[in-house]
Amino acid sequence: MLIRINKFLSSDQISLNINEKFIFEDEDFLVKTHLYREIDFNGSIFKVDENVILNGTIKYNFADECARCLMPFDNTVTTGFDALLLRHLDEDDLSDEIRLKITDGCVDLEEIIKQMIYLSMPMKSLCKKDCEGICPNCGVNLNIEKCKCNEKSTDPRFDKLKEMLKD
Ligand SMILES: [Zn+2]
Ligand SMILES: [Zn+2]
Repeated sequence: MLIRINKFLSSDQISLNINEKFIFEDEDFLVKTHLYREIDFNGSIFKVDENVILNGTIKYNFADECARCLMPFDNTVTTGFDALLLRHLDEDDLSDEIRLKITDGCVDLEEIIKQMIYLSMPMKSLCKKDCEGICPNCGVNLNIEKCKCNEKSTDPRFDKLKEMLKD
């Protein structure tokens, strides 16, 4: 996941936009995260005084399971990061800024992208905002079919109450 910036660095351009599709080759990572191999990367690189700054955004897809109805679905997350691009990394530097090394005019984004994915991957997601979930009584997926459990236990007085609570 290299971005090539040597031409940009030696030019008098102030900014550079990068749009790339990166392919993950790290099979362990793919298995662990259920990530789909291809991710979108959008970045802007700026020269600010002596510094080179990267604003990056990644968009990735992974196989998820709905926290409410337990059905598998494809989830998409977009997340961003800023990093300072440096020719020499100072190991003693304790600032919390992300620092990435420029090697032979290139920056390798694989590690930072992996970190961003770990940090941004949601623990619980819903297949859709109004997912109906599973009937706790009979276990049917209420998005697909309606069960009779509710009808049985419904008392007309409660219906009235439900209507009132809806508003
Ligand atoms: Zn669901
Ligand atoms: Zn039911």
